[in-house]
Amino acid sequence: MPALFPSEPVFSPFGEASQKASTVELDRGFLWHPFTQMQDWCASDPLVLVEGLGASLRDEQGRWYLDGNSSIWTNLHGHRNARLDAALQRQLGRFAHASFLGFTHQPAAALAAALCALWPPGTLERVFFSDNGSTAIEVALKMAVQFWQLDGKPHRRTFVAFGGAYHGDTLGAASLGGVAAFTDRFADWQFPVERVQSAEALENLPAESIAGVVIEPLVQGANQIRVWPPGLLAQVRAWCDRAGTFLIADEVLTGFGRTGTMFACEQEGLVPDFVAVAKGLTGGYMPLAATLTTGRVFNAFLGGPERTFYYGHSYCGHALACAVALENLAIFREERVLERLQGQILLLAGLLDTRLRPSPFVYEIRQCGFVAGIEVRQPGGIPFAAGLRMGAKVCLAAREFGLLTRPVLDTLVLMLPYCVTDAEMEAAVGALAAAIEACCLH
Ligand SMILES: *Cc1c(COP(=O)(O)O)cnc(C)c1O
Repeated sequence: MPALFPSEPVFSPFGEASQKASTVELDRGFLWHPFTQMQDWCASDPLVLVEGLGASLRDEQGRWYLDGNSSIWTNLHGHRNARLDAALQRQLGRFAHASFLGFTHQPAAALAAALCALWPPGTLERVFFSDNGSTAIEVALKMAVQFWQLDGKPHRRTFVAFGGAYHGDTLGAASLGGVAAFTDRFADWQFPVERVQSAEALENLPAESIAGVVIEPLVQGANQIRVWPPGLLAQVRAWCDRAGTFLIADEVLTGFGRTGTMFACEQEGLVPDFVAVAKGLTGGYMPLAATLTTGRVFNAFLGGPERTFYYGHSYCGHALACAVALENLAIFREERVLERLQGQILLLAGLLDTRLRPSPFVYEIRQCGFVAGIEVRQPGGIPFAAGLRMGAKVCLAAREFGLLTRPVLDTLVLMLPYCVTDAEMEAAVGALAAAIEACCLH
């Protein structure tokens, strides 16, 4: 009988084969990428990244590119940031990760305190760590459901989410998602969610049955960078207060300065009952997420084993990630990041206005703080045929002009790391302008 498993590995990462096979060959042979049609991918020539520095990344061929979407919306202070690198190395000299079940450690405890200190005293007082934005949302949802059970209101079981929302890809977080292409196929496996298109629509909901309202404050990222009308978030907070239910803010994208303030909620002067943060928490260095909540929620879980929050992941409170997140917050404090950002936001607005707005193919520019979406259409505002994948084409062309980014449909996303220089910002917007001209004219 032939052995089921080979006695010698067919491919060993340590063997000769790995030296002969290129990264691209190994990728085509073995990898499956996120959000990617792999048939197209395997037929394409993927960019192989080998190093980064500041706001730039270098490929195998030695070409440098500006990291125009901050490495999928995560990077804040650049690649190989000296302070973040050193913080990681310091923690590596101690330990990388240890169980968070039954033990604690300084980086996690200090980070929890530091995160709470970013909110008004006595509001968000407890931090639960997990690994990514989706799990940070899952934690908030599960805590809310269990809270209402413990509070004698088990009928509060429906979550409210907005049209076009994106809260992550795990099944619970995806249930909240309002982008049909990502969620429709799994509709039968999702829990019930009331979807609303406006704050006014909340008024028609059965308030008594609502466990919480989940929202991306100020701007929906994955929904082609859609900026909410000013005041909407405060309106939602007010409705939640009247309905006696929770406001769950998904600050996974907006947190840590992206919209110009540390958190987007600050701009409407309110504090949610739960806040999920992830992407920028470690400056884009490590997968780490946190769910912040109030003392009221935390206290409801105190008591016997039936009140325990039974939830966790192997890497909860990862020490390296917490250490680098702490240093990220120190950079904000000591290097006046938010102060500098105000000028960069104005410069960005000016560049988008002068370099992109005049183009007949630029239909709309949507900017919220340091996040920008540029929607391209045919002259006269007629959308390009979806099959043209014009947004993807423009972003691919932008590479030739030294910029890496990724669109959402036909909206080009420009979300640079905060460490960009003024000249780099000009180059990034210039690359988009050149790419739009190169693609849309033909
Ligand atoms: C990216 C994102 C998420 C999901 O975070 P992951 O780390 O990718 O799981 C959730 N909410 C918003 C607003 C996001 O932008």
